[in-house]
Amino acid sequence: MQVTATIAETRALLDAVRADGRRVGLVPTMGYLHEGHLSLVERARAETDVVVMSIFVNPLQFGAGEDLASYPRDLDGDTAAAEAGGVDVLFVPDLTEMYPVPAATSVIVPDLATTMEGATRPTHFAGVATVVAKLFNIAGPCRAYFGEKDFQQLAIVGRMATDLSFPVEVVGCPIVREPDGLARSSRNVYLSAAERAAAPVLHRALQAGAAAIGAGERDASVVRDLVAAVVEAEPLAELDYVAIVDPATLSDLTDPSGSSPLTGEVRLLAAARFGRPRLLDNLGVLVPEQG
Ligand code: AMP
Repeated sequence: MQVTATIAETRALLDAVRADGRRVGLVPTMGYLHEGHLSLVERARAETDVVVMSIFVNPLQFGAGEDLASYPRDLDGDTAAAEAGGVDVLFVPDLTEMYPVPAATSVIVPDLATTMEGATRPTHFAGVATVVAKLFNIAGPCRAYFGEKDFQQLAIVGRMATDLSFPVEVVGCPIVREPDGLARSSRNVYLSAAERAAAPVLHRALQAGAAAIGAGERDASVVRDLVAAVVEAEPLAELDYVAIVDPATLSDLTDPSGSSPLTGEVRLLAAARFGRPRLLDNLGVLVPEQG
């Protein structure tokens, strides 16, 4: 595994890979690697020839009062995990390499970025889209792997790549979970033992919503309220939102102005705080046709 710190070196390396007729797979991360990140590497290895992972804790996507300073970091552990996971190029730029001057340019995808996570974190997705645009320009033509765990982020990045004609195919990968259903996340390390025991309620609540749909419920608001009630019954969970959206457009299916019976593919999403960390989870549901 080659470790790079500069944009120029990374670009030259990946240009040489493509000149050789080999395909590049990009896995952007903020480090503190876990099985979720490594599942993206595995998929990239299966579909491309040279896997480049970036580790960069991007300040642009943290709002004032968020956990930028305390975001968990472990570069030695990450380097070992990336190498063991089969990463070929580990790109670890520092802040001045990525932002030699404060960025005056921002990439925004307003149609997808104002609801759910964007409602609580209004500048978050501009920070994400801007750094991902930079990483796409650094990596060049490639397939780029993102987790469904951050479902809104995946939709925004995919739409940005389409709208701005990046030579990048965005690939979404399934959520990797702990045995009790909790989605793997770098932020799980913040959970106390009691909060860790409570946190799988997010997944259980989403499953309850999916089960209600499976049992014939077609009113999105009823499903949303049912999911919310399961989370709210857990004293250590402070619910932020439950949403039921169209997976492609993220449009709110509970919106009373356009509300119609659930059909086709829908996505249930939830976010809640457990003590310090805010955790996210989501579940795709194919609404059964009623005959
Ligand atoms: P992060 O380091 O949290 O920015 O995550 C980097 C990438 O890993 C993003 O595309 C995430 O969606 C993805 N990811 C994080 N956790 C998981 C998980 N549990 N399962 C699948 N992908 C994940």
